[in-house]
Amino acid sequence: MEKLTRTDNVRVRFAPSPTGFPHIGNIRTALFNWLFAKRHGGKFIVRVEDTDQDRLVPGATDAVLAALDWLGIDWDEGPRVGGPFGPYLQSERLDIYQKLADDLVDRGLAYRCYCTEERLKEMREEQARSKERTGYDRLCRNLSQDERNRKEDEGGRSVIRFAVPKSGVTAVSDLIRGEVVWQNEVLDDFILIKSDGFPTYHMAVVTDDHLMEISHVMRAEEWLPSTPRHLQLHQALGFDPPQFAHLPMILGPDRSKLSKRHGATFVLDYRDQGFLHEALVNFLELVGWSLDDHTEIMTPSTVIENFGLERVNKAPAIFDYEKLTWMNGMYIRQLPEEDLADRIMPFLEDGLPKECLPVDRDYLLRIVPLIQERTKLLTDVAEMSEFFFQTDLDFDPQRLIQKGMDRQTALAALAACQTEISNAKIFEHEPLEAALRVAATGLELSPRQFFGTLRVAATGRDATPPLFETMEVLGRERVLDRIQQAISRLGDSD
Ligand code: GLU
Repeated sequence: MEKLTRTDNVRVRFAPSPTGFPHIGNIRTALFNWLFAKRHGGKFIVRVEDTDQDRLVPGATDAVLAALDWLGIDWDEGPRVGGPFGPYLQSERLDIYQKLADDLVDRGLAYRCYCTEERLKEMREEQARSKERTGYDRLCRNLSQDERNRKEDEGGRSVIRFAVPKSGVTAVSDLIRGEVVWQNEVLDDFILIKSDGFPTYHMAVVTDDHLMEISHVMRAEEWLPSTPRHLQLHQALGFDPPQFAHLPMILGPDRSKLSKRHGATFVLDYRDQGFLHEALVNFLELVGWSLDDHTEIMTPSTVIENFGLERVNKAPAIFDYEKLTWMNGMYIRQLPEEDLADRIMPFLEDGLPKECLPVDRDYLLRIVPLIQERTKLLTDVAEMSEFFFQTDLDFDPQRLIQKGMDRQTALAALAACQTEISNAKIFEHEPLEAALRVAATGLELSPRQFFGTLRVAATGRDATPPLFETMEVLGRERVLDRIQQAISRLGDSD
């Protein structure tokens, strides 16, 4: 593992293509690169690979940057911040790629190809029919100078292809996967510059990894088959290639490719579903890497101090939405109450009925300790706490009558509650509970029955945070009012 020691002057990059919104896999790649840069005091660069003009999705770049912002993955060079190796949008670097590709043509290492779409289609069909290896048949590689001149004079569209060596092997010493070797004869003469003047991914990625002085390329495993092409191109251009590390695939718990049915796939959907960015980061750190064999909850500094490719797995990583939800609950429990209240606020504004708004922050701060333990997602809170905010509770009055009670005993229980609560010297949960227990005994009702009735009256629910703390937060007046309403509704409910 001598290669791993090259950790001075680390420069790594995250190179999203704005052809879709960022998903979990993209951001795991960004995160691992970022951690690696932090670990080695290096630079983390964001480069937008927008060379596939037909597939650009409006808003995709902004969504990628917003996802990085949300997760606290900051970058040293790239969009918005600039840097000494810019521009960081490939569409603004076309002349650089063109010049390098032209040089390769001049040196006989690349060539212009004039084949039309129709010809290539026929070629592919023929290859499929005769079960030959598919790929460009190198027709234009062998054109004479006269034939070339004629094609140029005809003025048809052309592309620049790389002349891949026809024999020999290309090998990469991948920092995660070890030595991987390809026979050059299986690599076809891939395109460097397309007919619209844009480079292909291969051309642009090699050029920019070199010019931006990238030391390590850490990317998804799906790019491993492209690596021999990149190495060939680095060599032809006289570049010293970076080191490569291909990160393991991410699968769902059923070991199929991660998709919507395993939970959200787009990163910002997790924010909208009420996940904390700290929890998602912690979770993603463990998708393919581990600190040791057991630690799940890790501080950012622990991860940065210990992050390394030695503990990145080769085997596919499993994305377990349930574990993420569990972890989110753990993080919610650890948050200071004020912070949690601030994070909950937008979800209440969004999730509570209009008449409950605006939410009073001080009131919310008193609710937070009652729900913090039980909250797994910030989106749970509106439903869980709605009764704290409602003016009128909507429930079937029959629910006030607990098992083994009738209407009269339920009414008697509510009347006793009214008396105790009105007479209580201070409205605090401990004395309140003590007084109400005595009242329950006086009526020969079990605490389960008596408090069940009271709970439904005060909250409209059968299950709530601890009843007496809840009532203390609701306040004496509101509780008395609700009990009065419950009595009237039960009285009228014949
Ligand atoms: N633009 C490629 C992507 O979106 C990046 C591949 C690479 O990192 O080389 O996945």
